[in-house]
Amino acid sequence: LGETIGGNFERTVARFGGREALVEVPTGRRWTYAELDAAVNRLARALLASGIAKGDRIGIWAPNCAEWVIVQYATAKIGAILVNVNPAYRGHELDHVVRQSGLRLLISALTHKGSDYRAMVEEIGFADVVYLGEPGWDRLLELTVPEERLRERMASLSPDDAINIQYTSGTTGFPKGATLSHHNILNNGFFVGEGLGYTEDDRICLPVPFYHCFGMVMGNLGATSHGACVVIPAPGFDPELTLRAVQEERCTSLYGVPTMFIAELEIAARFDLTSLRTGIMAGSPCPVEVMKRVVTEMNMAEVAICYGMTETSPVSTMTRSDDSLERRTETVGQVMPHVEVKITHPETGLTVPRGEPGELCTRGYSVMLGYWNEPSKTSEAIDAARWMHTGDLATMDADGYVNVVGRIKDMVIRGGENIYPREVEEFLYRHPDITDVQVVGVPDTKYGEELMAWIVVRQGAAPLTAEAVREFCAGKLAHYKIPRYVHVVDGFPMTVTGKIRKVEMREEGVRLLGL
Ligand code: ATP
Ligand code: MG
Repeated sequence: LGETIGGNFERTVARFGGREALVEVPTGRRWTYAELDAAVNRLARALLASGIAKGDRIGIWAPNCAEWVIVQYATAKIGAILVNVNPAYRGHELDHVVRQSGLRLLISALTHKGSDYRAMVEEIGFADVVYLGEPGWDRLLELTVPEERLRERMASLSPDDAINIQYTSGTTGFPKGATLSHHNILNNGFFVGEGLGYTEDDRICLPVPFYHCFGMVMGNLGATSHGACVVIPAPGFDPELTLRAVQEERCTSLYGVPTMFIAELEIAARFDLTSLRTGIMAGSPCPVEVMKRVVTEMNMAEVAICYGMTETSPVSTMTRSDDSLERRTETVGQVMPHVEVKITHPETGLTVPRGEPGELCTRGYSVMLGYWNEPSKTSEAIDAARWMHTGDLATMDADGYVNVVGRIKDMVIRGGENIYPREVEEFLYRHPDITDVQVVGVPDTKYGEELMAWIVVRQGAAPLTAEAVREFCAGKLAHYKIPRYVHVVDGFPMTVTGKIRKVEMREEGVRLLGL
């Protein structure tokens, strides 16, 4: 699509104005496309009246709510760069993002999950802030300019302008600000929606965070570019509320990271999920067993796996509903339309033979403009031929199906053998008493590294010992892949997007073992 986000949104409004666009649960607030457009235009004109120029950065720091979506489209219509601020950030992270992106205005929630956003904004000494639901927000909305001013601004925008800064999840280090254009994210959302067969009849339940591309692009843009409706269980992920939203709003599609689906599967039998047809599991490795159960126990026959990263708008590969169940559970699908993928040797940069692991590199419309104000990090990630080096290890089979083996940084080398923790995790998922598992390497004087399995045991199951786990693996996994240490936990250290922070687990492993 060669349009701006605002232009595309208005095209949907013209086609589907009377149909539902947005529903918030449990508040029951709802908007048709025409109503949503009116709310978006009101905010867009208010922002113009307050002097926001094209390219100014406007931050949004709030959990999922309808206003988030309104801010997303209003900033896009006036060509301001929306800066997504992670709701889990605390003072010093907020400070980093506010200064790094050079925010002109911050639109903030007052509180979320018991933390006082206002106190944190005051602590970092940032004054250009308006709080949702406060009189300041209403005062902003009372400002306006004539409609022509909005039309003029929209006409001056180009699809290649930067429109959004999304900070990466910070799984492997400090978050980096991926700068994305209309063209980047609108097209990615559109092709994800097309891959899932969205029409104006679809209703998409989004418990995934809007601050991340999973919610904002694959969710919101995927829906609105096809005239579908977004259903938001607000303010954030709660398995009960999510499945209630699906049931009450007759959702056809549901998104989540694997850990969300694992939690939903525990309670799925209590809900009527017959309206579900499709959805997406993505963000981190999607366990085969979990995918299979989602298909059968949650009625998501056409559920897709997507692979991608913030820097690539985000999706690079995706499974299709006509792929076999094996391919839809065991691979991350094929390359998205108009995107290229190659698998290269991390040292030589040469393409490896099909089936062999190497670094996944991708190129196409979806590759970000760059990291905001970090030219050296940008040129480390994107080479001169515009290939984005993902840092992920993957294989590609003869038919072009991609399998993500893990991050280069997570690979464990034990006694000279390369171990991909993912493979060991997949094996351990088969244990009837293990509901979730993550494997990391911890330092070892003899072998360089040893494996430590972090395990969540099924409720009501007998305690699981390291010996029992090793016995389960004996004879079925190569001896060097059998975890030396087992750590039983209730959950894993995670980023707010539901990604497992293996860096933190390794550090904790070192501490536990007294190394
Ligand atoms: P940071 O770059 O700050 O360390 P991050 O890489 O986790 O954080 P994101 O851009 O949110 O930030 O996540 C992209 C990464 O998530 C990919 O590089 C990949 O490692 C992982 N990932 C995404 N989808 C999948 C998938 N379907 N299977 C396996 N891994 C996935
Ligand atoms: Mg990354």
